[in-house]
Amino acid sequence: MAKPAILTVDDDPEVLQAVARDLRRQYSDRFRVVRANSGSEALEALQQLKLRNESVALLLTDERMPQMTGVEFTEHAATIFPDAKRVLLTAYADTNAAIRAINTAKLDYYLLKPWDPPEEQLYPVLDDLLDDWLASFRPAFEGIRVIGDRWSAYSHQVKNFLARNQVPYQWLDIELEAEANRLLSYTTSEHKPQLPLVLFPDGVRLEKPSNLEIADKIGLQTQAEHPFYDLVIIGGGPAGLAAAVYGASEGLSTVMIEREAPGGQAGSSSRIENYLGFPVGLSGGDLARRAVTQAKRFGVEILTPQEAIGMRVREPYRLVQLADGSEISSHAVLIATGVSWRRLNLPGIEKLTGRGIYYGAAQTEALACTNEDVYLVGGANSAGQAAMYFSRYARQVNMLVRGDSLAQSMSQ
Ligand SMILES: Cc1cc2nc3c(=O)[nH]c(=O)nc-3n(C[C@H](O)[C@H](O)[C@H](O)COP(=O)(O)OP(=O)(O)OC[C@H]3O[C@@H](n4cnc5c(N)ncnc54)[C@H](O)[C@@H]3O)c2cc1C
Repeated sequence: MAKPAILTVDDDPEVLQAVARDLRRQYSDRFRVVRANSGSEALEALQQLKLRNESVALLLTDERMPQMTGVEFTEHAATIFPDAKRVLLTAYADTNAAIRAINTAKLDYYLLKPWDPPEEQLYPVLDDLLDDWLASFRPAFEGIRVIGDRWSAYSHQVKNFLARNQVPYQWLDIELEAEANRLLSYTTSEHKPQLPLVLFPDGVRLEKPSNLEIADKIGLQTQAEHPFYDLVIIGGGPAGLAAAVYGASEGLSTVMIEREAPGGQAGSSSRIENYLGFPVGLSGGDLARRAVTQAKRFGVEILTPQEAIGMRVREPYRLVQLADGSEISSHAVLIATGVSWRRLNLPGIEKLTGRGIYYGAAQTEALACTNEDVYLVGGANSAGQAAMYFSRYARQVNMLVRGDSLAQSMSQ
């Protein structure tokens, strides 16, 4: 976790350097000292910190600065980091302004320049304020944040990709969360960012990214390390993963190609009760994660998201063509591509897919359906599992079943 920041602002470079030096000497073990030489530069720094989801504990600012006074800066800064402690560092002549600002800018304190010796004039006050701030500090969520619109198919695609690949993320809906709009206004690009906007903890921002761009950023392997393998497996569902573990454990150099996320259909299951060796059941995500770990332990390369789009034979080799134009050659290819969702054939449904109509999206969408009505089409096992999962959040779950009874298609 990045250390919380102390931001100090002064237009006099020597004073700024001296304050920063004294702050570092006392606080650098717990806080990061950030400096700025004007109010506008300091606001820009705060916005960048906010976009990276970092915390700011204290603002220590000079009062008399050109363009923006310390009090004005503090008032703006409070809209970005309302919990940061606010201290004005003023010359003696500014004390009346400082006293007035205690109310207007909700200052926590004002200190006089010069502050020598800091052990007496600076640290005691700041120690107290920082202790106070730390007592109520709750570290921010540290992972990826996705800002988007619930009714956008693209936003759903990004959320689904992260969820299926077991990457934790925080979803910020522009219709429901003021924070989402605030963060968008802090992005410095000349144009309005395209949504979904994905914010990474290191400060990188991706606008409307493809699954491949996200995969590259989070470190998924999308390209094979070698041109040749003993075994290529196409499809990373339970069948492909099992084959990968057994192939590699027999000493075969093995690569597995998966176009969405390892786990396949099973990865979207909220509870699997009948998998051998798990007497109390486990979630599909858990099963996929364990299988991936096991496969990697045996040295399997897992390429995802990557799609096999063609195959040819050049004896004695089998060559698999990938969507990125590359080709992998092998002794043997195992095809474990499973099945895809059967699509509902209804007028207008394509337009709404990903925007309120989803296929097998319980894990990604259930939380968003809190206190809402959900309609589930289907009456077999997957629908039954999804109904149970949605019922934890939704106001009501309605199953639309074509047959006469659930017993016709659901396991008893
Ligand atoms: C919601 C749900 C709950 C379920 N619950 C249970 C349960 O509790 N118990 C049970 O026994 N079964 C359950 N099933 C069924 C079970 O998940 C499937 O039988 C099983 O996943 C089939 O495994 P598979 O590896 O053959 O294929 P799949 O799981 O379909 O995997 C195939 C994989 O191949 C990938 N792929 C396809 N084409 C390509 C290509 N050209 N290039 C690269 N990759 C490709 C796909 O993206 C997919 O990941 C459930 C299914 C669902 C959907």
